[in-house]
Amino acid sequence: MTIQPRIEEDGSPREKTDPISSCSQEYALDGRIHLNGNSLGAPRHSLIPELGHLISGQWARLQVRGWFQEGWLDLPRTVGDKLGALLGAKPGQIVVAGETTSTTLFNVLVAACRLRADRPVLLVEQESFPTDLYIAASVARLLDRRLAAVSRADLDIRLREHGDQVAAALTSPVDFRTGERRGIGETTALCHDAGAISVWDLSHAAGVLPVDLDANGVDLAIGCGYKYLGGGPGAPAFTYVPVRHQPDVDFPLAGWHGHARPFAMSPRFEPADGIDRARTGTPPVLSLAGLNHALDPLLEAGIEALYQRTRELGDYFLACLEESRPDLAKQLASPRDALRRGGHLAVRVADAERVEHELAERGVHVDSRPPDLIRFAFAPLYVTKDHIRRVVDIVTAVA
Ligand SMILES: *Cc1c(COP(=O)(O)O)cnc(C)c1O
Repeated sequence: MTIQPRIEEDGSPREKTDPISSCSQEYALDGRIHLNGNSLGAPRHSLIPELGHLISGQWARLQVRGWFQEGWLDLPRTVGDKLGALLGAKPGQIVVAGETTSTTLFNVLVAACRLRADRPVLLVEQESFPTDLYIAASVARLLDRRLAAVSRADLDIRLREHGDQVAAALTSPVDFRTGERRGIGETTALCHDAGAISVWDLSHAAGVLPVDLDANGVDLAIGCGYKYLGGGPGAPAFTYVPVRHQPDVDFPLAGWHGHARPFAMSPRFEPADGIDRARTGTPPVLSLAGLNHALDPLLEAGIEALYQRTRELGDYFLACLEESRPDLAKQLASPRDALRRGGHLAVRVADAERVEHELAERGVHVDSRPPDLIRFAFAPLYVTKDHIRRVVDIVTAVA
């Protein structure tokens, strides 16, 4: 079954004039359709010459001097400042230290609890991505705090009613399963009313949703480099510390790159001024270069245009699904209102893993989450309406 022309006409005029949709040729899609940008974005073709130059033109030629002559030493901050433009943070407040999302979260959660030494509770959303729950539980154990894992729906209530007990609240602007949004400004304000530190995991929002970190008064934030940011497999995570907290944050991972004078080789740790204190050790330059390269087209488009495009694509997907498989469209696990969700949609299907594999065999990458969710993510720069029409046709046949 194919999609009725009514929807096709609806989508096509805009598709032809929309500057964002013409970006998809810049990405290496290998003839496939990538609706899993929330797991791993697609690379740009130009990444290959970019990395080739780094290896033969910089590393092979300069070797250790590359750290100083090619700006490698500053890359964690260079990339951090670029990210700031997408995340609504002024320069000097984001760094990409070179850690995983998990270690970055550990570093930031301990620092958050240390800012509120006298408070017993670390509050998290029960539905958080698993590593966030594991790390939060471990931090609570390490620092002798109590972990309170409450449902997303109850978290704001808990802050209102028992917020005076809370040292820090870890929340996410986009639920990784359903895509449902949480208001960053609202929850952060509740944290502040309660005197708690707000910690945001931006992994599923960065690169697709405006998060306005400075304007929302966020205390601390981290996020993953390899989802909508497209930094590549295992791209490092980022840390946000606003200027007002920089003199006071005390990170547990006190490595030499976070020292005030790393090359003095002093036996005693003295944290660097500013965001550099969130650095740890020697950064992974190749991975940082990949992330750095991935950010350029996102910055060029701007976060508002990216967000608008993602909403349009999601709505178009739903309109197509409603037309061809109204039964499946009713199994939507995400908010129908595009303004209430992030960059992906989740649909309940029987045997989600099988459907994921059937889609992959037909050249469509999505991902399933047990037991019954299929997630479709609409990375704004390389997913097109034509992709969506083709995917809905295939879903119609296999689900
Ligand atoms: C993807 C993701 C992670 C991944 O952690 P890694 O250490 O990079 O494997 C962590 N937290 C959230 C919320 C994520 O979405």
